[in-house]
Amino acid sequence: MKILLVEDDRSIADSVVEGLTAEGFLVEHAATGAAALAATGYDMVLLDLGLPDMDGRDVCRQLRSRSAAPIIMLTARAEEFDRVLGLELGADDYVTKPFSFRELVARIRAVGRRTVDAGADAGAPGSGAADDLTSPQQIGAMVLDRRTRRVYIGGEEVQLTAKEFDLLAFLATDIGAVHTRTEILENVWDAHWYGPTKTVDAHVASLRKKLGSHEWIQAVRGVGFRLEPPA
Ligand code: CA
Repeated sequence: MKILLVEDDRSIADSVVEGLTAEGFLVEHAATGAAALAATGYDMVLLDLGLPDMDGRDVCRQLRSRSAAPIIMLTARAEEFDRVLGLELGADDYVTKPFSFRELVARIRAVGRRTVDAGADAGAPGSGAADDLTSPQQIGAMVLDRRTRRVYIGGEEVQLTAKEFDLLAFLATDIGAVHTRTEILENVWDAHWYGPTKTVDAHVASLRKKLGSHEWIQAVRGVGFRLEPPA
């Protein structure tokens, strides 16, 4: 799969190109909107919204009009993207900076799978994981909507902080699987977190309280946490 990376920040571009190449992707780097629009033959686009020569939203709209390749936006803030999505409806997913490389690869694979599934290969087996990161995910009585960053239980919206939402969304990527504190810190906080793992426990505690039942998030002694609908 060939990925077009549109990013003017040299240090981000270099590390993403290096990482994706190591993961087996072909990567073409464009540092401007004009270079992005001149590119051809790619299967997916990673698009930074803040470009030097053009508004990233215009680049998105124009890329969308000339290719069906899925677009993942790289945005500075989640709130900024919600507004953009409403206006453009051109992007397939987004990753908020700063992102962990692992998160980026997970999004690329999920969007890639979804695009394939939507095509001729409709019989692809489901893995039980949250592959589709833009459609609301149903987990028992809970509905988790990553696109709007909203959570509902039994139809009632649950008000979460940004970190609580990120934590819940990460645990929900694999229902029933145990996620270690280190894994959670790397994915929800930062790829290079060296702080206390107690941070995770504190957020799990506040999240449980808001979800109305301790049973949603189970602690697995000495390992980590798993998300499961209460029995
Ligand atoms: Ca930029």
